[in-house]
Amino acid sequence: MNILIMGGPGAGKGTMSEKIVEEYKINHISTGDIFRSEIGKQTELGMKAKGYMDQGLLVPDEVTNAMVKSYLEMLDNKNGFLLDGYPRTIDQAKAFDEMSKGTSLVIDKVLALDISLDELTARVTGRRLCRGCSEIYHVTNKPSQKEGICDKCGGELYQRKDDTVESLKVRLEEYRTSTMPVLEYYRKQGLVSVIDASQSIEDVWNDTRKALEAEV
Ligand code: AMP
Repeated sequence: MNILIMGGPGAGKGTMSEKIVEEYKINHISTGDIFRSEIGKQTELGMKAKGYMDQGLLVPDEVTNAMVKSYLEMLDNKNGFLLDGYPRTIDQAKAFDEMSKGTSLVIDKVLALDISLDELTARVTGRRLCRGCSEIYHVTNKPSQKEGICDKCGGELYQRKDDTVESLKVRLEEYRTSTMPVLEYYRKQGLVSVIDASQSIEDVWNDTRKALEAEV
């Protein structure tokens, strides 16, 4: 099964993605994680992406599409994949259609995590990530046992540079203008299941599983 997960910043894509990948044993392709890892390694791609990401802007389509294409070429797609954070523009959706046409990479289901803008702001500004294993925490909703330290691997917790109020405004605007049309693009193809992402993690997960196990 090839799944695309969509939702604004802080809707819970990262948390649900972890669960989906574990349950269905599929490959996780998160363009945000790939960019962050490239920035950490200070590669050419990372340097190209950094300026855009720090401001909350989308990395240009040609850079992102080329990265996804080379990633897919190396992928062993036995059980399928979960695309997380891509396609995020109509041009990317069309580029992905071209890459996947006639292959085993065509998207079967799209999950749309739906949540209000106020709730997104609270979630994003309280979010913390582990430098070691990328585990996601929240200062009030899901705090680590020891402040600033990851429960799983003991790594240092940090706040993403783009998880500030200013960057978030830009990212929400990007989401509204560039990414909402992508949701519409897949809705027209009858692929979208909308999930109420304001619920507890457990309830969002139950609804996600139901959506994935229902026939399209
Ligand atoms: P995310 O972790 O999905 O919230 O992505 C973090 C940032 O990475 C975004 O705000 C963009 O700057 C960049 N990014 C991730 N995926 C894409 C994409 N598909 N197209 C353009 N930029 C992206």
